[in-house]
Amino acid sequence: MPPRRDNSKFIQGDSDSDISIDDDADFVKGKGKGKATDRRKKDGKGKGKAKDTLAYTWEASYTRSWETVQEDEAGSLQSSVDDWMARGRRRRLLAPSTAIRRTIIRHLILLLDLSASMMDRDMRPTRFDLMLQYAREFVAEWFDQNPLGQIGVVGMRAGIGERIGEMSGNPQEVLKSIADRHKMEPTGEPSLQNSIEMARSSMSHLPTHSSREIIIIFGSLTTCDPGNIHDTLDACIKAKIRVSVVALAAEMKICRDLCEKTGGQFGVALNEGHFRDLLFELIPPPAQQAMTRSAAGSRATNPSADLMLMGFPTRLPDTSPPSLCVCHSEIKSEGFLCPRCLAKVCDVPTDCDICGLMIVSSPHLARSYHHLFPVKGYDAV
Ligand SMILES: [Zn+2]
Ligand SMILES: [Zn+2]
Repeated sequence: MPPRRDNSKFIQGDSDSDISIDDDADFVKGKGKGKATDRRKKDGKGKGKAKDTLAYTWEASYTRSWETVQEDEAGSLQSSVDDWMARGRRRRLLAPSTAIRRTIIRHLILLLDLSASMMDRDMRPTRFDLMLQYAREFVAEWFDQNPLGQIGVVGMRAGIGERIGEMSGNPQEVLKSIADRHKMEPTGEPSLQNSIEMARSSMSHLPTHSSREIIIIFGSLTTCDPGNIHDTLDACIKAKIRVSVVALAAEMKICRDLCEKTGGQFGVALNEGHFRDLLFELIPPPAQQAMTRSAAGSRATNPSADLMLMGFPTRLPDTSPPSLCVCHSEIKSEGFLCPRCLAKVCDVPTDCDICGLMIVSSPHLARSYHHLFPVKGYDAV
């Protein structure tokens, strides 16, 4: 990447001053004088080069995006835009088109950093506002592609983990929990351990056929923990929780470890668009890993491939006599009837509040199905 190379060059130029201070020190000590002058000569060259290309520090990080865009003969930018979109499509084509075993019943905790560092303005308008905006888009898209999944929201601020939204399969409910930005005003230090423990405890009751995932949007470079965070990491591995981190500042060793050891993804966002890409890459259901890769040849490579009970509900017409629903105790005429206990629930998919049966509608199942058997890549004609 050209801007990065420029950057390193500039750092070289910048470090000139450090070296010259060193030289002075050498001079005072009265030794290595020749060496120092040699170095000075070299530095002089480096400085000149840096000055040719860059006049100010901020130029190093500045990408001249307009220079990569080419107009066609008519002065239109359409061809550039088409090219850009074709590139995105090509990347999608590279995705594997064979059937992979994936978890389609997903449980996800979205862990939002609400510490003071989220008020940084290196992403516009602030990291915090951008995170909320992307989190909302993410939730909507996630439920669209994973209709059988559930999302809970946990925030980390002032050294503790804070439950913001209960685990729910209803996108509106999740969106409502992160709609009010004033309730989530960033303060204090984040605590990775406290908030991961909170997320872990809210997923401990889940059955083995569903996935357990934590996605952390992390803007800080510190974490203040009450104990050893590596114990938490071990507990996550044991509970088969997959942790993914989207960092907004820089890479932290513990974040990288969390992701690599639990099979998640780690990424540092370079800019606003990259942040969104990193987040949205986490939407398709992850491939299920063979748990016993070390015990090769054993038949235990397909863990928990058992059947599960699902009920297809009866939809009540809007004209049916109103009755109480079991989820909110509200009188309504529309709703769905659990096929086993005939309790009335407002939304599907959900777990029946009375008998615990998982209630899904067949379109939801069908929509999850395409992740398991993806469409083959098209041949360009
Ligand atoms: Zn209800
Ligand atoms: Zn029921």
